Amino acid sequence: MDDIIQMEHDYLLQVYSRPDIVFTDGRGSTLYDSRGRAYLDCAAGIAVNALGYADPELTEVAQQAAAGLWHVSNLYHTAPAVRLARLLVETSGFAQRVHFSLCGASANEGALKFARKYARTRHGEGKFHIVSFSNAFHGRLFGSLAATPRPKYQQAFEPLMPGVRVAEFNSLPSAAAAIQDDVCAVIVEPLQGEGGIHAATPAFLQGLRDLCDAHDALLIFDEVQCGLGRTGALWAWQDCGVAPDLLTSAKPLAGGLPMGAILMTPRVADVMAVGDHASTFAGGPFVAAVAEAVVRRISQPAFLAEVRRKGEVLKERLQEINSPHVLEVRGRGLLLGLQLDIPAGDVVKAGFEHGLVLINAGPDVLRLAPPLVITDAELDAVVERLDAILKTW
Ligand SMILES: *Cc1c(COP(=O)(O)O)cnc(C)c1O
Repeated sequence: MDDIIQMEHDYLLQVYSRPDIVFTDGRGSTLYDSRGRAYLDCAAGIAVNALGYADPELTEVAQQAAAGLWHVSNLYHTAPAVRLARLLVETSGFAQRVHFSLCGASANEGALKFARKYARTRHGEGKFHIVSFSNAFHGRLFGSLAATPRPKYQQAFEPLMPGVRVAEFNSLPSAAAAIQDDVCAVIVEPLQGEGGIHAATPAFLQGLRDLCDAHDALLIFDEVQCGLGRTGALWAWQDCGVAPDLLTSAKPLAGGLPMGAILMTPRVADVMAVGDHASTFAGGPFVAAVAEAVVRRISQPAFLAEVRRKGEVLKERLQEINSPHVLEVRGRGLLLGLQLDIPAGDVVKAGFEHGLVLINAGPDVLRLAPPLVITDAELDAVVERLDAILKTW
């Protein structure tokens, strides 16, 4: 398989830094490489593979869907997207309309556009500013990139989409200064993922809700990473009881197939008209059929209770790791972060040698986002291997 790695260098655009491993197969929470080595997976394809690898039910649903209609475009009715939309509305706790997209970034692009239209319809020109927060990650397309305040991601691509104001995460005074009458939307992750696993406090989210209401701005929760069962609630906002006007979902939505969704309240949906926004591929029957099976499974109360229980067990066991390099364990459910005082990338590298797929969230935070179906025995093994790795420092 060394030829695959060489060919990767020769033929693929070099924007990813990959370890010298070629993954060929997966079962449950275990990945296998081309040399037959097994790895416990704590990355889950970046919080995507909530039901793990080769889930029998998903495989069956995908095989059935693959034998049927793949694509006809959004010019026509198809059943799977409609069924999925109904399921998302029924389980959302706040939304009444859904619009499908292709990924997390494009879901956020849609949500930002809907907010612009909402403000223009109700207030005319001038109310177009978007407020996002420090350490946020909303994607790499132009709108979502402008709301992702990271010079490393932004600088080479300037000028960015204008109209974005950045406030300090979890600081209500900073948010209040930014959220004025010229703001159409506030976008925030209830639990920040890429930015280092930082949870928004319930008081902060409630404060944002109040500020949005006071200025008729729309509150967008980016639950691309923290939503759909990851925190042990179906939606992360339900952990603190503050409902948004728009919610974006993607990563785990279609079990590893690319799909995003924007959930919204009626007052948002009411301003959007035929032709205002569209996508050729979004919400196709193949991905939507798989996504419906994913959402049905994850939304079972017993499934979510297991995520909460396992998350607590994992967090406790991580806190017991006796290493001077672990400064803090934070996060909820099965989205946890270890604040380290050593480079997280080095620990990720060492993980491969110990049969562990790890992922970082910034330079010094190790992120644990295993499949939600990971077993207790596998979690034990994860902690043991991580403990062994950290002992070598
Ligand atoms: C990954 C991520 C995105 C971007 O999703 P893509 O599918 O990579 O476009 C947006 N927001 C959050 C919170 C994410 O974690």
